[in-house]
Amino acid sequence: MSLLEIKNAAKSFGGIVALNSCSLSIEKGKITGLIGPNGSGKTTLFNVITGYEKVDAGEILYDGKNITNSSPDKVFAMGIGRTFQLTRIFPRLTVIENMHVAAQRQGLRGLMGQWNAPQEQQRALELLDYVGITHLKDTPAANLSYGQKKLLEFAFILIADPQVILLDEPAGGVNPTMINLLASRIRGLNARGVTFLVVEHNMEFVMSLCDKVTVMHRGAKIAEGTPKDVRQNPAVLEAYLGD
Ligand code: ADP
Ligand code: MG
Repeated sequence: MSLLEIKNAAKSFGGIVALNSCSLSIEKGKITGLIGPNGSGKTTLFNVITGYEKVDAGEILYDGKNITNSSPDKVFAMGIGRTFQLTRIFPRLTVIENMHVAAQRQGLRGLMGQWNAPQEQQRALELLDYVGITHLKDTPAANLSYGQKKLLEFAFILIADPQVILLDEPAGGVNPTMINLLASRIRGLNARGVTFLVVEHNMEFVMSLCDKVTVMHRGAKIAEGTPKDVRQNPAVLEAYLGD
């Protein structure tokens, strides 16, 4: 059963076609990898799903509901969390303060207006612990390593208990220990029913983690299948070699 359905999504920036009548569906309860050469439209797809960009045409359905061109806060509150290729954190705030800011996001049930409430503190600490950065709670976010920033961003979105998590290059520039921790957390959440869509260039990470892989090229899906099938697909090899 598909949880997220992209139907003929189109998006251009001036003359540049980022999404070219792109259609794909994301299966509920699975970890799907999204790969493709640089510039193939992966981040743009994330942006249109999560409301950071509007589509020029096409539709996005989440659990059967039309969420096309909804606001980022609305999409997040509905249960779709995403991280960014370049993290978006508040560098001068400490790690725990960043968590509090994330908890203030519009639409999060019950969390608004409870700034510094004991339950909120507790929840923020539990999530930092889950991603392995509790020891950094009072460190300004600017002082974190690149990998630690990514883990903080991952903890951010867990505040909302998302049903779907979209990760944009979570392992890029991250050391192997943290990549392993991240992979085990993704598996753990998936075992509890969370659906994942993961953009990543680290093929070992994609192949070991994903149930299924979708390949994009020039703004549209060109292949999908098991990690092994996709790897041997001539169209996929050509897309990577050709550009
Ligand atoms: P990927 O994440 O697969 O590398 P992107 O979605 O970032 O690809 O980019 C797809 C294409 O759209 C690229 O040609 C990129 O330069 C272009 N693009 C993406 N965002 C913008 C933007 N805000 N303004 C102009 N061009 C953009
Ligand atoms: Mg990208």
